[in-house]
Amino acid sequence: MMDFLKRTWVQIRLDALAHNFRQIRRQVGPGCRIMAVVKADGYGHGDQQVSQVFQEEGADWFAVSNIEEAMHLRQGGIVKPILILGFTPADQAAQLCASRISQTVFSLDYARALSSQAAKAGVEVDCHIKLDTGMSRLGFLCDPAHFDRSMEEITETVALPGLACTGVFTHFACADEANEDSDRFTFEQFQRFQQGVAALEKKGVRFVLHHCCNSAATMRFPQMHLDMVRPGVILYGRNPTPDCAGLMDLIPAMDLKSTVAMVKQVGAGAQVSYGRTYTAPAGTVLATVPIGYADGYRRTHSNKAHMAVRGSLAPVVGTVCMDQLMLDVTRIPGVQPGDIVTVFGRDGGCCVPIEDLAQDEKSIHYEVMCLIGKRVPRVYLAQKGEKGEKNERAL
Ligand SMILES: *Cc1c(COP(=O)(O)O)cnc(C)c1O
Repeated sequence: MMDFLKRTWVQIRLDALAHNFRQIRRQVGPGCRIMAVVKADGYGHGDQQVSQVFQEEGADWFAVSNIEEAMHLRQGGIVKPILILGFTPADQAAQLCASRISQTVFSLDYARALSSQAAKAGVEVDCHIKLDTGMSRLGFLCDPAHFDRSMEEITETVALPGLACTGVFTHFACADEANEDSDRFTFEQFQRFQQGVAALEKKGVRFVLHHCCNSAATMRFPQMHLDMVRPGVILYGRNPTPDCAGLMDLIPAMDLKSTVAMVKQVGAGAQVSYGRTYTAPAGTVLATVPIGYADGYRRTHSNKAHMAVRGSLAPVVGTVCMDQLMLDVTRIPGVQPGDIVTVFGRDGGCCVPIEDLAQDEKSIHYEVMCLIGKRVPRVYLAQKGEKGEKNERAL
């Protein structure tokens, strides 16, 4: 039994995070750097806490989406280099430099703006050039129609004052889909990337770091690892897609838990929750659970999903409210207030897969993890065997 009681919480195994990092190290070998992707609060796991684990395990770099996330890592004691994968307003050049944060540069316009602000502040910003090889998001276009122009623009970029362009990278659109068409596209992206790098070298433009692999490509395409890989979701123990299952030995780090607040047997024909969408048969026993859509448990799970109580699955009945919902626990003997409810994750021999929730939401597990509410505390379970069970920390 835990020495604290919570309404609803996310439980995170630090030993699983360390294990997953070591598996990635094994996968890429000692010569390849690992950039731990910890954007979006470490995929909902708590960016400072997970980054501490990865830093201790030997992460070479960290990646985030914006400058606030980067600053949060610095405040949390992360000293390794950090790359912002997304947009940073150019007028924050001085801040980037002061906190030793590297910035993605994705267009000549942006490069000029950042350069001018950096020069004005008398600083130099470390930059990684982003090539758009097929994702059509950020980056200098590398399709045949734009290739030559982009190479000229990058050459102009690296010569700008106030920018130190030390890295070059791209991002795959479908490396997580193991079928012929998607694989062909990934290989084409990789080829365009290499052609870009080669064309720039011809112009005398060289970079220290070349990187393109997300989790799926790290798992599936060792020939694309280059100087560094950028795994995200596998750090947290989840396969990017079922197509990637079984390629690495991963341990999911996160479970979402709640607590039974009240148990009651309702009368035959009782209607449950807003809109009266569920009518209880005679003998129905309901458990009221304090988690709702404000915690990130989506309303679309109304009358669809299951949660685990006492090692058995109980269906969600009626509409999910903002802060609460009801489970039908008629077939689970002995359910009591205070019982722990597993919203997703393992409960003894019983498992509620996060992937099932994602499917219900017409989404992916990435989104389910990211959207767990800010008000849900993250509870970290210390490395196994180290300090024992008493060391569960609520943060
Ligand atoms: C999010 C992201 C990653 C990590 O993706 P995963 O699928 O979680 O491994 C890598 N690179 C970039 C540019 C990203 O935006």
